[in-house]
Amino acid sequence: MRTVKKLTGLGVDAQIVLVNKNPYHYQTTELHEVAAGTKEPADITFDVARTFANKKNVQVLIDEVIRIDQDAKSVELKNNAPLQYDYLVNSLGFESETFGIKGANENGWPIVDIDTALAARKHLEDTLKRYKSSHDPNDLRIIVCGAGFTSIEYIGELVYRMPKLAKQYGFPLDEVKIECIEAGPRILGMFDQNLSQWGVEYLEKKGVNFHVSTPITEVKSNAVMSNDQEFTANTIIWTTGVRGSHVIADSGYDQKRNRVVVADDLRVNGQPDQFLIGDVSGVANPGNGRLYPTTAQISIAEADCAAQNLAALLKGQPTKKFVFNALGTVCSLGPKVGIASIDMFGHWNLKGWIAGVAKKLIADRSTLELTNIRTMLGND
Ligand SMILES: Cc1cc2nc3c(=O)[nH]c(=O)nc-3n(C[C@H](O)[C@H](O)[C@H](O)COP(=O)(O)OP(=O)(O)OC[C@H]3O[C@@H](n4cnc5c(N)ncnc54)[C@H](O)[C@@H]3O)c2cc1C
Repeated sequence: MRTVKKLTGLGVDAQIVLVNKNPYHYQTTELHEVAAGTKEPADITFDVARTFANKKNVQVLIDEVIRIDQDAKSVELKNNAPLQYDYLVNSLGFESETFGIKGANENGWPIVDIDTALAARKHLEDTLKRYKSSHDPNDLRIIVCGAGFTSIEYIGELVYRMPKLAKQYGFPLDEVKIECIEAGPRILGMFDQNLSQWGVEYLEKKGVNFHVSTPITEVKSNAVMSNDQEFTANTIIWTTGVRGSHVIADSGYDQKRNRVVVADDLRVNGQPDQFLIGDVSGVANPGNGRLYPTTAQISIAEADCAAQNLAALLKGQPTKKFVFNALGTVCSLGPKVGIASIDMFGHWNLKGWIAGVAKKLIADRSTLELTNIRTMLGND
């Protein structure tokens, strides 16, 4: 969507078709808030067609991409005839990754889009509500699998909302148990030790138990196994990681976990008419040779670069190399608190409300750039 928005501002003479599965676009970085119930879907979504209503050369098509036929240069759709393209920008995003762990798909609740966020929330609330009649301690136990960004940000929202839920559904707040199970040795390892420690202690004080170096080996309907160790709960949130859209593998790209390492101008090697951006693409960090992690920050930068390079191709000009300047990392620990490591005008480690404000400013700026001020202020 951002590429289309940018392209329309670059004065290109082209017919653009934007294919999206849903009539709405959602701010993915706020899905955990919908899952925890601190935000409603309407707070983080906006209408795609309306965003482009005054752009005559943009057609919005609500449909699901099934496969890309790279030889025939066509996009196969679920409900419409295939679309032929001269140029393709593929930004199909991510799916939940189970790493082949037994039972993860069947018994874990992922948070990857509006539907899954709402399903996770409904299950959580139904289970908490049931405690009043069941008195089953597992109804008040929640296991969050993995301690990456999504898990930690979800837990932050959950501990914030839990007192209200306890009041609403009449369960004892002090009997709620939130367990976070992580295979790696550290929580929030992408931050400096003192910052991640602050974040961990903040959540621990709110009653969260972290289990590090605890690889999950199986997920059952009411338990998570780590070899012989068993953690029981009737709500199991599966936020261990993501992989790219399955359409990538289904379309025969040279991929790993549905990510394709792209050329330095973001085109697909050997397919000069295709750009791949966002979580389906892989770009190597020249500093260490490793792929940059998939984030909204790099996806936004790629979207802008792909629009500029596509406009250049349409005008018969050379493309430019994608260069990523990371501005830092922010992790919320609830609606008002967070930790942040910012690289702007020096290096800044922030914690508490100031990092929460930074996160909110970033989300609002991203919404504003895609839509308009009315949407950002919640007036649409
Ligand atoms: C809860 C959560 C919190 C996060 N927080 C942060 C953060 O704070 N900072 C950060 O940098 N990153 C964060 N991330 C990661 C970030 O959201 C992703 O890296 C980013 O959204 C990827 O952008 P994308 O455009 O590739 O994919 P998406 O944002 O997933 O967009 C893909 C779009 O394609 C549509 N689509 C998918 N499949 C099809 C299909 N087959 N046919 C048609 N349409 C389809 C989807 O509906 C969606 O609109 C977070 C992720 C999650 C889940």
